[in-house]
Amino acid sequence: MSKVLIIGAGGVGSVVVHKCAQVPEVFTEICLASRTLARCENIRKSVKERTGRDIEIAQVDADNVPETVALIRRVKPKLVVNVALPYQDLHIMDACLETGVDYLDTANYEPPDEAKFCYKWQWDYQARFKEKGLMALLGSGFDPGVTNVYCAHAAKHHFDEIHYVDILDANAGDHGHPFATNFNPEINIREVTAKGKYWENGEWVETAPLSIKQSYDFPVLGPKNAYLMYHEELESLAKNIKGLKRIRFWMTFSDNYLKHLEVLQNVGMTGIEPIMFEGREIVPLQFLKALLPDPASLGSRTKGKTCIGCEVEGIKNGKPRKMFIYNVCDHEECYREVGSQAISYTTGVPAMIGAMMMLTGKWRGTGVFNMEDLDPDPFMEKLNIHGLPWLEKILV
Ligand code: NDP
Repeated sequence: MSKVLIIGAGGVGSVVVHKCAQVPEVFTEICLASRTLARCENIRKSVKERTGRDIEIAQVDADNVPETVALIRRVKPKLVVNVALPYQDLHIMDACLETGVDYLDTANYEPPDEAKFCYKWQWDYQARFKEKGLMALLGSGFDPGVTNVYCAHAAKHHFDEIHYVDILDANAGDHGHPFATNFNPEINIREVTAKGKYWENGEWVETAPLSIKQSYDFPVLGPKNAYLMYHEELESLAKNIKGLKRIRFWMTFSDNYLKHLEVLQNVGMTGIEPIMFEGREIVPLQFLKALLPDPASLGSRTKGKTCIGCEVEGIKNGKPRKMFIYNVCDHEECYREVGSQAISYTTGVPAMIGAMMMLTGKWRGTGVFNMEDLDPDPFMEKLNIHGLPWLEKILV
């Protein structure tokens, strides 16, 4: 019997619940809890219609540790899957420690008042999870998540030494809105407007936001402008891939998206410092979020495909080797299957597979783990079965 408690009923949470419901032999019982119960109720109905399964739902403010502890004690899950926002990570980890339950998430902790992406806060939980004999799996989405597993797969099966990694994330989907973000607007805009950063020869190199671009010829999608950004998996991969010389992350943006973002930044709408408005404090970015389309509403309108992969370069048997490992995902197919667009889908499926790895004992350990710390083979096998098949192209 493996009961899972999923916290966060947003775009990603909906996919995780639908995908877990498709695998009753592993996820024997499912409880979905979130801040707004009505969102859980909508997902509950959709899961019932699509899979015939009943799930339990609950209201929780996951920033309130005693409330989350009480929920975990009542629900008695084997694992808590955190797909709320990065701000909740430490609170939910605290609740897991107190109740003795394993933990999984898809994004590293960020303090709400500072756009600072790093694993430090969560890696600091290492000793506490170990002492309690518990496992925490960090970043089990696509990027981070599958990209880390692709690197582990490359290291295990294709390279003696990996020297260069470029992670490339392209979304060629069109939702028909003048401007919208494909996942939580606040988190997305904080990430995109932050300084760029990559790792080379043991040092972090900072760049002005979106100031470096390349045209990359993506399989299926063709050439797209990809912009260098900082992304959290760079931190763990730079530490964990031995012999690495450089690792960078690139994401595509349409000219239209960038133009809107520039104007919003110029007028101060993306700020995270509170300002006074009509006698009360508001955070401009949170106000902007309230105006933008809800990412969960984009599913029915989005057409086109995503392609996310890792270009890895190094040495095998004394010879240079370069390859691209990737997935192509179709927005409309995702919508048909689970009622969500591909960005939520590509995050939610790996969260379900990570949970499956932990619950079936394929991935076990005590302490805090990044995805590349674990054997990539069983995870790669499940990607092919559960909707995110991968391909690899040998370039050199
Ligand atoms: P959404 O904003 O759509 O959903 C977040 C959900 O969490 C909402 O339902 C929200 O509740 C709920 N929530 C927020 N605060 C709390 C709280 N204090 N207590 C309980 N529930 C809360 O976001 P997404 O689904 O797009 O993203 C979910 C996570 O996935 C994020 O952490 C994001 O960074 C991560 N992600 C990871 C990716 C990867 O590849 N690794 C890619 C994309 C996203 P309410 O409905 O009340 O607002």
